[in-house]
Amino acid sequence: MGAREKELRSKESLTLQELTNQKELAHLLYMYNEQDKYIMNAVLYIEDGLNDGDHILFVERKSIYMKIKEILINKGYTESDLSLVSYMSSDMFYLNESGFDSDESFKELEKVITANLDKGMLTRTWGHVLADESSISEILKYESKVDTLLNENGIISVCAYNALTTPAFFQNELLKIHEYLLTDEEVVKSPYYHRQYVSFPLEERKRVGNLEKEIHMLKNKNEKLLMDKARQKEREKFLKKEKSNADQANHAKSVFLSQMSHDLRTPLNTIQGYAQILMMNDLTRENRDKVDKILRSSDQLLQLIEEILDFSSMDMGSIHINKEEVQLKPILEECVGSILDTQKSNIMINLDNISEDIYVEADHLRLNQVMTNLLDNAMKYNSYNGIINVYCEVDEKEEQVKISVQDNGSGIDPKEIDLIFEPFYRSQTHMKGWKGTGLGLAIVAQLMTRMDGTFGVTSEKGIGSTFWVGFKRINQEKSEHLDQAIKNWSPSSYNFRVLYIEDNHDNIEVMKSMLDVIGNIDLHCTTSGRSGLKELDKLHPDYIFLDLSLPDLQGFDILSKLKKNPKTKDIPVIVVSADAMEATIETAADKGAFAYMTKPINFEELRKLFV
Ligand code: ADP
Repeated sequence: MGAREKELRSKESLTLQELTNQKELAHLLYMYNEQDKYIMNAVLYIEDGLNDGDHILFVERKSIYMKIKEILINKGYTESDLSLVSYMSSDMFYLNESGFDSDESFKELEKVITANLDKGMLTRTWGHVLADESSISEILKYESKVDTLLNENGIISVCAYNALTTPAFFQNELLKIHEYLLTDEEVVKSPYYHRQYVSFPLEERKRVGNLEKEIHMLKNKNEKLLMDKARQKEREKFLKKEKSNADQANHAKSVFLSQMSHDLRTPLNTIQGYAQILMMNDLTRENRDKVDKILRSSDQLLQLIEEILDFSSMDMGSIHINKEEVQLKPILEECVGSILDTQKSNIMINLDNISEDIYVEADHLRLNQVMTNLLDNAMKYNSYNGIINVYCEVDEKEEQVKISVQDNGSGIDPKEIDLIFEPFYRSQTHMKGWKGTGLGLAIVAQLMTRMDGTFGVTSEKGIGSTFWVGFKRINQEKSEHLDQAIKNWSPSSYNFRVLYIEDNHDNIEVMKSMLDVIGNIDLHCTTSGRSGLKELDKLHPDYIFLDLSLPDLQGFDILSKLKKNPKTKDIPVIVVSADAMEATIETAADKGAFAYMTKPINFEELRKLFV
């Protein structure tokens, strides 16, 4: 080893140029990161060789070599200066059909070096090795032979590898057979270089062979993971798109349903309104039956509209569930009472004595809806003179309350028991004789799920069925949830004055007729929002009845104006609308409406305002 080399070798790090000034120094491993720096290092290396009059064997990809050549020409080197550079493509130099060919590559290199030596020329080489994990042992074999050859002939050679794609373990192996490590910035001595490795003995080959297999396996796994990840990404993208399509479709569906419900309710208001008024007159028995049929059919139609609308809103997830403490006794009494009021049959309902202190976590309105659906069915599918038992069981340990509705009707075929909660499913037995949509139980299922409750049925054909729903029990004393202001409110005098803001004349006529029946009511009607507001300057009504779809102003804007004005803010506003969407009803309540009446107007509901 020469003195200069000794001096250099003792230094921690140096530049490529400093190193290549020492001809004895041979084998450099270049782990490059940045292509631009790589190219500049290659240019310096070639320039250095040209200055020394060396023959340069440059093995690289064509596109990179062309960039290097262009830089050299721009620096003033001529084609003839560059005749000392022999370019070979990396693919051709290192690879054959089956991958890296260590023997052929070595032979090629040896040929060039010895030919130049014969001509008295030194060779310096630069080879960009295209490594892949299946050729590690072949490359190491080649590199170890090259190391010996270069050392014997005092030749400088740079073996370049892409640091980003060469596995760490392979980099370590390469450091064992290259005396120097070159990075984009500097040259350092390899901490692992040792002559004993250079011979690449058999046991070393075996060890590397195993590592090679392992890395191959890891690469396959990695590829699979990447593919899975790519597939997952694709799927997420697809699902996102599907969701956005579904959201759009849901919105369109919601708009359509609200419009459809509105349009059907408006004419129904006239039909039901007059039918209810007619029933109050002195009718012959025959005519009374006819009007009764009109009322029942329009009721059915209304129920159908309500169920479809309700189910669709649930299906779209657009219903709002307001979980609160609900006292069970009054709500069950209310449900049973209203079923008995509306159903004209011989069926008896027994409501167990329910303890006052049972409270459950539920949405008051929705619990009412669930119970009404179950009671309706128990009535509908019961036998003539049937009996319905409504009872409640408390599981103190689990803090659960189970409410059951038991009938002694036709029962359900075991084959159908799992299907009856599906939307639109109607049992074969009941298809013909009973009217229905097949949505009632699907609504029960949806509501119970949304309220985090449970539900189910046991049934025996010909004996009867027991439908049950379960709620979380709340151990609390009765709490005052009712809005006392609303509860206690009552109109000031018997001679009521009402302002009705409504543009549809049929609706006005129905309202007039209904209020006439109730009596003692001074009704003032205006057909636009503005005229309604103007009317209020001189009129001091006990109630304002407000339609929402008016020709000039939005119903809600009128409501807000009324509630902001100190003169009108205390007058109870009753929204009378064909829009039965829950969101609209909630908005009305938020904006200060006293009550919300959906069209068709229920006469009894209206009458209650004037008692
Ligand atoms: P609908 O009553 O409108 O048909 P439901 O969803 O309420 O729709 O009920 C679905 C089906 O389940 C009914 O058609 C009927 O066949 C069956 N069913 C529901 N309740 C009972 C009951 N109490 N007894 C027997 N069958 C019932």
